[in-house]
Amino acid sequence: MAVERTFSILKPDATERNLTGAINAMIEKAGLRIVAQKRVRITKEQAEQFYSVHKARPFFGELVEFMISAPVVVQVLEGEGAIARYRDVMGATDPSKAADNTIRKTHAKSIGENSVHGSDSPENAAIEIAQFFSGNEIVG
Ligand code: ATP
Ligand code: MG
Repeated sequence: MAVERTFSILKPDATERNLTGAINAMIEKAGLRIVAQKRVRITKEQAEQFYSVHKARPFFGELVEFMISAPVVVQVLEGEGAIARYRDVMGATDPSKAADNTIRKTHAKSIGENSVHGSDSPENAAIEIAQFFSGNEIVG
């Protein structure tokens, strides 16, 4: 399998509970390398653009408000099959349906405040990485 890069966000519910290190340990234990990382407060415009695919959904407003409610940690993760591997490590969107030992089962508060984001395709990974990082900020 090819070495890939995926885009990750540690969401406000995670940074607020001081879980950056705990979640990063789960990421690294799964064989993914954190090749770029920064803690930022995203703007409302960035959150709306990032989740624009969901703009018709009833939870969109709540999702945007949540994403700007506290700092987030944006990351680029690298490894074999990184996109699918990170989705596995994250677990299902709804933590009550997530498998044991996944990030969301272990740490998420709810379907909305679910601790992490991971890209869902190579196309979206490239778009999302470019939205938050310039090439020289990614060091593999
Ligand atoms: P993400 O895109 O954040 O990695 P995901 O791909 O597992 O999560 P999506 O269906 O893309 O899930 O939903 C994006 C985000 O919107 C979810 O992670 C969650 O924060 C929020 N969300 C999804 N469904 C609901 C819902 N029913 N109620 C509230 N928030 C929701
Ligand atoms: Mg998604």
